[in-house]
Amino acid sequence: MSSVASTTTPDAQGHFGPYGGRFVPETLVHPLQELEEEYLRSQDDPEFQREFQYYLREFCGRPTPLYFAERLTKELNGAKIYLKREDLLHTGAHKINNCIGQILLAKRMGKTRIIAETGAGQHGVATATVAAMFGLKCVIYMGAVDCDRQALNVYRMKMLGADVVPVTAGQKTLKEAINEAMRDWVTNVRTTHYILGTVYGAHPYPVMVRNFQRIIGDEARRQILEKEERLPDLLIACVGGGSNAMGLFYPFLNDSSVRMVGVEAGGEGIISGKHAARFQGGSLGVLQGTRSFLLQDEDGQIQLTHSVSAGLDYAAVGPEHAWLRDLKRVEYSYATDEEALHAFIRLARLEGIIPALESAHAVAEVIKRAPELPTDRLIIVNLSGRGDKDVEQVAGKVKL
Ligand SMILES: *Cc1c(COP(=O)(O)O)cnc(C)c1O
Repeated sequence: MSSVASTTTPDAQGHFGPYGGRFVPETLVHPLQELEEEYLRSQDDPEFQREFQYYLREFCGRPTPLYFAERLTKELNGAKIYLKREDLLHTGAHKINNCIGQILLAKRMGKTRIIAETGAGQHGVATATVAAMFGLKCVIYMGAVDCDRQALNVYRMKMLGADVVPVTAGQKTLKEAINEAMRDWVTNVRTTHYILGTVYGAHPYPVMVRNFQRIIGDEARRQILEKEERLPDLLIACVGGGSNAMGLFYPFLNDSSVRMVGVEAGGEGIISGKHAARFQGGSLGVLQGTRSFLLQDEDGQIQLTHSVSAGLDYAAVGPEHAWLRDLKRVEYSYATDEEALHAFIRLARLEGIIPALESAHAVAEVIKRAPELPTDRLIIVNLSGRGDKDVEQVAGKVKL
């Protein structure tokens, strides 16, 4: 019988239904094949799996708790809410899970140099961290505008020994940084591995990153069965490229009783046009190696996006999400900047946990949904990261 999970296993060319694939210059076809082969070998290699688990545990701090949010539950007076605490990981978010997996692959392939792109700097910091830990050279591409906006993260990466290259092309943000990283990879592919930060880009990145992140859902599944002796009714996660959401959702895809909601950045509202909700007004297109839902105009020009949270502020979404939406397996909604900021403060005051602004979008969704569910229902919200990085941003927007 074909299950949802097997339906979303991509074909040999990396297609999830009509989405995904490998849209790259000729020079990158071979390196991507090499990466795919090494990745497939590593999946069957107990030694690789042992090493991966070792660093997740000893370096990153896994397993992360599945924490019962008692006061939030009481206040919303509906379903019982659990938080998956990815915010407690080393470097403060789920991104390190994927970075550990990919740098172990890079080492197996004999690469000596790591490159990555970063928007807000979170993926850059996680990449610089694992590169330092393994003693590999590291170059991070970052839009010049983002370098100014996230000066502290630039300095953090430099402290960790990385070279940070400001990208001055185009709008000088994440999209241009990815283009520069691809250009570097084409030129230096013999020595260099490109650690892409989410379930995006050319095959095998979307499936590989999802599988490095599925540890989130594997743990959550085990933990909820231990605590409640049953599966949750609803999973909620924010969706930028979509890696923390895929990581949580994937191990539950075949459990038909478990509903799932991905939350995009609604920015200043869908009508304003200032948002990053690809499933509200986006359309099918190809960008940076893959086919998926994009915010683009009629000429295929990529639109400007906006979100209070830099980690959700991107014009495209991972191809597997587009497919899961077509299959009606996952529902996609959005939270506005205002709703996310409200959820940010509310979680801080009710639970003593300051979430990342990205994660606050998922919290905003639980604030809407929990009161509508009976008290015997269970919700798991993925707290993808912690909010220390966002304190200054929020201070500029919320009067206390
Ligand atoms: C980068 C980031 C995200 C968005 O990326 P996904 O690939 O969609 O998970 C979400 N939360 C935090 C804390 C992040 O740093």
